[in-house]
Amino acid sequence: LRDPTDFGAAIRTIPDYPKPGILFRDITTLLADPASFSAAVDALVAGHRDDRVDLVAGIEARGFILGGALAHQLSAGFVPIRKKGKLPHDTVRIAYSLEYGVDEMEMHRDAVRPGQRVLLTDDLIATGGTAEGAVRLLRELGAEIVAACFVIDLPDLGGRRKLEAMGVEVRTLVA
Ligand code: IMP
Repeated sequence: LRDPTDFGAAIRTIPDYPKPGILFRDITTLLADPASFSAAVDALVAGHRDDRVDLVAGIEARGFILGGALAHQLSAGFVPIRKKGKLPHDTVRIAYSLEYGVDEMEMHRDAVRPGQRVLLTDDLIATGGTAEGAVRLLRELGAEIVAACFVIDLPDLGGRRKLEAMGVEVRTLVA
């Protein structure tokens, strides 16, 4: 039986997806394995149970899967950070940089009240451009960011350092 906390073994890497030369880290195998998913959620919330987290903010789309589970563990609410044009009510929007180009993400303007304590999550941090945009959007709404957590870190791409330079504590399970 595999160690459920060997998260690296539960994730698979798909070569040349979505483009030639890219190694895509795929967490669907981890999510489908009950022991691994449970252990990953436990590891991501460890240390945050006494942090009075009000809300977990998940980045579309895999951050929604993790975020719902984390929110339940912390008895917190969940708020989505979505690609533009998907949210039905008044939104705040921010442009963020991708490896090649820019995109925009949105939150509902009333998703966070000033001073609420927010844990940010996504499946993976690479350059950190996506998470940086999320942090800026959350702070624009007055959120206090408790930490940002990810299953996978691609450390050579510098995302963790970028968030830490913004004063955000970062937790990742696999590098
Ligand atoms: P960053 O903005 O460069 O840090 O890229 C992180 C964002 O791109 C996250 O929303 C990830 O879900 C997505 N992403 C980038 N590379 C991968 C990958 O190999 N597997 C899964 N998601 C990825």
